[in-house]
Amino acid sequence: MFAPLPDKPDHDALELEILALWEREDTFARLRELNADGPRFSFVDGPVTANRMVLGVHTAWGRTLKDVFQRYKALRGYRQRYQNGFDCQGLWIEVGVERALGLNSKREIEEFGLAEFARRCREVVVQSSGALTKGSIRLGQWMDWGSDYFTFSDTNIEYIWRFLHVVHDRGWLYLGHRSTEWCPRCGTSLSQHELTQAGVYQERSDPSLFVRFPLLDEEGESVVIWTTTPWTLPANVAAAVKPDAEYGLRENGEWVAVARYPDDRFVRRVPGEELVGLRYRGPFDELGPGAEVEHRVIPWGEVSLEEGTGIVHIATGAGQEDFELGRVHSLPVLSPVDEAGRFYDSYGWLHGLSTTEAADQIVGRLAEQGYLVEAGLHLHRYPHCWRCDTPLIWRVTDDWLIAVEELRQPLLDANATVEWTPAYMGKRMDDWLRNMGDWNISRRRYYGLPLPFYPCACGHLNVIGSRAELAERAVSGLEQLEELRRPWIDDVPIRCEACGEPVERVVEVGDVWLDAGIVPFSTLGWKSPEYVEEGYATGAARGLTDADLPDHTYWEEWFPADWVSEMREQIRLWFYSQLFMSVALTGRAPFRKVLGYEKMLDEAGREMHSSWGNTIDAPDAFARMGADVMRWQYCAQPPDRNLLFGFGPAHAIQRKLLTLWNSARFLVDYGTIEQFTPRLADLEGLEDVEDPLDRWLVERTRALVAEATSAYERWLTVDVVRAFEGFVDDLSNWYIRLSRRRFWQGRDEEALRTLWHALVQGLRVIAPVMPFLAEHLWRALVRVERAPSSIFHAGWPALPEADARVLEEMADVRRVVELGRRARSASGIKLRQPLPRLVVEGAAGIEPLLALVRDELRVKDVELGPVASEVVVKPNLPLLGPRLGPALGAVRTALQAGDYEELGDGRIRVVGHELGPEEVLVERLGLAGWSVASADGVTVALETDLDDELLREGRVFELVHRVNAMRKEAGLALGDRIALTLPAADRDLLEHAEWIKAETLAVELAAGSDGEVAIARR
Ligand SMILES: [Zn+2]
Ligand SMILES: [Zn+2]
Repeated sequence: MFAPLPDKPDHDALELEILALWEREDTFARLRELNADGPRFSFVDGPVTANRMVLGVHTAWGRTLKDVFQRYKALRGYRQRYQNGFDCQGLWIEVGVERALGLNSKREIEEFGLAEFARRCREVVVQSSGALTKGSIRLGQWMDWGSDYFTFSDTNIEYIWRFLHVVHDRGWLYLGHRSTEWCPRCGTSLSQHELTQAGVYQERSDPSLFVRFPLLDEEGESVVIWTTTPWTLPANVAAAVKPDAEYGLRENGEWVAVARYPDDRFVRRVPGEELVGLRYRGPFDELGPGAEVEHRVIPWGEVSLEEGTGIVHIATGAGQEDFELGRVHSLPVLSPVDEAGRFYDSYGWLHGLSTTEAADQIVGRLAEQGYLVEAGLHLHRYPHCWRCDTPLIWRVTDDWLIAVEELRQPLLDANATVEWTPAYMGKRMDDWLRNMGDWNISRRRYYGLPLPFYPCACGHLNVIGSRAELAERAVSGLEQLEELRRPWIDDVPIRCEACGEPVERVVEVGDVWLDAGIVPFSTLGWKSPEYVEEGYATGAARGLTDADLPDHTYWEEWFPADWVSEMREQIRLWFYSQLFMSVALTGRAPFRKVLGYEKMLDEAGREMHSSWGNTIDAPDAFARMGADVMRWQYCAQPPDRNLLFGFGPAHAIQRKLLTLWNSARFLVDYGTIEQFTPRLADLEGLEDVEDPLDRWLVERTRALVAEATSAYERWLTVDVVRAFEGFVDDLSNWYIRLSRRRFWQGRDEEALRTLWHALVQGLRVIAPVMPFLAEHLWRALVRVERAPSSIFHAGWPALPEADARVLEEMADVRRVVELGRRARSASGIKLRQPLPRLVVEGAAGIEPLLALVRDELRVKDVELGPVASEVVVKPNLPLLGPRLGPALGAVRTALQAGDYEELGDGRIRVVGHELGPEEVLVERLGLAGWSVASADGVTVALETDLDDELLREGRVFELVHRVNAMRKEAGLALGDRIALTLPAADRDLLEHAEWIKAETLAVELAAGSDGEVAIARR
């Protein structure tokens, strides 16, 4: 017996019930027991940043894909790891805490106290990881919750130390002195890959200044430069010209590039190289630092003649290209602003001002001194801090870098071993690897990996590789070391291994991508001598997880990952940092296969922003659409296109799922009436069916399993969903519709068995995508002794290959029926009116299935044979008009008269012109009393002449339809019997009394005396 199903599913309620059931029955743990001896499938989770207090629908997308493939592999018997990860350090966490505490600068953080600040950051991770876990469980993600890895654990930190130690041994670690993008609010430099994140480059309007620099050697002459960053002018040291470009002197003494002002009058013209070496007065020499510089005109081949004046202001301390140019020409470096982007005291009246505050005063002073030629505004794309949205500046700083040159080729080679889906993402990785610069790993922040670098005054750089080494070499401070973290670690000086003097750690922390990149080593126990239970729960992670630190044998078993999946942005972030660290440590890629996917936008195609009110939190989506519908939306998405997520698409999905639901309900309703009991053997295969429709559905089901399996193996959930949707449509709108009568007219065991088999196999293949509804319907339908109680314990369906001939024959039947409907519609005769005959030409394979066509099209007889019709050939005007010109008229007339010759292959000769098949439109018209339709080589003709008997039958069909609608309106159950009274005018229909009774479940039938149909329950 089946459990009854309501009219439609309440997704939210149903899902909560299933979650409770899974917990009660320990379904996930039992699944892992079932697979304990299975083959290995190694998945490594990319950590989610634990800074939000609710799961976002973006994060839920990735989590769904991970869960879908882990569930699929589990159904196929694979033994897997299910460790979830949280990213716990870095600016995301810090900036959130700063905002919550109302802190606005690094100075304020230090005044607040680093120990307390660290504790607050940890608290954010504790709260957020709890909320994200809760949301993920609600989403249906099966993970080892409670055994998560947290990147701020001391163990993870130690593993990064070990990596940095190796990097140092290889000679790749160095302290770079460079100009770099800098966030003045966060007080740190950013690395190249951080600048590639979404939202970094934004349109922005900045001052546009044309400024005159007076030449010292040529009285009354000056060079004119253009800048959009006024704050860099006090740091000016040179002006660059393009040596081979032509420069002109205006009457007022200003030098500019001629190409920029082609219509100006010039009193002198010289090549740029003649200006090189001229000295000029700096714009802010009175402030001190500038006065010590000899400002000169220098040559630079890269000077643009596309914008500005063709003369470029060079501030070596405030621009990357400027800095590099300064190296070439041995220019001095003026660094005007401090870490917070404020002018140093040496800059006189500018001191303490931020770069934006200084702009107005700088413009004012330039105007006063007569240096300002023109001031306006300039709209351009400008980089912003990815975390706090502050416009970036450039500063010359000392950063710790890892040189990539020696690793570049090994990285490219390793990437060549990885199978990327979609393939273009692998090419993106290649491009990045070919073009990336050295990895800037240092950040001047607080809550992050402490870089274990101890540069000694003697010139030796000490790099600590483990906590044990730190303990061994510490001079003092070990007793207060709560975690391997600032501020505690800063109070542990060590002894220099070269000179024996005490030496302090640098203050910098590490790039967060080191934290996530080390995961394939730190969580799998690389080089760990023993397996330590709960050994990963160290430092800040203590008390948050019971994750183990496995041993090296374990690492060898699970490394590299068979599969990882994240969004495209991670190519330059997590995929890259993992690849980099893995190639540095082992020479190998850390993953074999990658599934990437594009961005999520709202359903109108806009970015989601909380300030625009179009973001969606997962709990809201769970309540309003359900996790299954969310998951379906994610899975239906081709990974190479942006996902437009929202409640609108969710409604469309709910409607599709209702078709599946109604099919299951149909089986439950009729199966219950017939007291049908499914057989365990039918779960796997169904061989012994006779009816052609049943035979077809069995083959159709086999085809679905094959299509879905292939799609999962190609990591394309979109193809799984497409295959399933096609199957449900065939099941509902073809099989059930055509078989309705068999279910209705009494016990047809074979039809019930076939439908049950097909539905259950369908549920099994869609279960990874839609685990709740699949589990719910499984439990409603599969109440069979010895059958697994959970669909996830049933394994993967193993069906034989589908018989292609059976599928093709049915496809032909559907084509013929479609044409038959078209012919009927053209004739204007109602659907319920039986017709005498259909003739089919060009689909001989349907012969065994003619009865289906007959019933479906409501015709008395179906014949195979040539269709007598009139062929009408017309010119295809858009093609023939231009080709034939005035000759078209004669061609048209001749075609109309049938005055042409067929040449084969659809070619035609007419009044001396030869026409190709695409140049004419051939229509087949029915002879009198026939309606004809044709397409793709199949033609059907429907006879439309009606006699009295056919008309009477048509009225019976109308009556039956009417009565069944009345039964429904009256709320009768499917099996209820009725007494039926016909209108007096329909007395002649009593000739078909038995037919009418059977179709309406009437036990009494009579003609009344008035004009109404009446029913009464019996
Ligand atoms: Zn910032
Ligand atoms: Zn030393």
